[in-house]
Amino acid sequence: MAQSNPRKVRVFTAICEICGKEFQVQVRRGGVPKTCSAECKRKRTNKMSAAYRANRHCPPDKHGTLTGYSTYGCPCADCRRAAREYKRKQRANEPK
Ligand SMILES: [Zn+2]
Ligand SMILES: [Zn+2]
Repeated sequence: MAQSNPRKVRVFTAICEICGKEFQVQVRRGGVPKTCSAECKRKRTNKMSAAYRANRHCPPDKHGTLTGYSTYGCPCADCRRAAREYKRKQRANEPK
């Protein structure tokens, strides 16, 4: 019984999320890479952050409300102000 991998480095084939190419990865603690190269990794990061930004807005009728800020994470000035006012009111209601 020949043990060809004495250092217990587990290698397996993964498929790049960006270009779909198969590539070899070493299994490491803390996760497995999802892309085959640094370039694909960068593309993936760009894609994810674009999708993330696209999700970060609230429906028009929720603008300027706490819901817009807390539920939709809307970064617009109106929603931020609503959240600020809500926090201030909460603080004012706190028992001394
Ligand atoms: Zn790739
Ligand atoms: Zn908003």
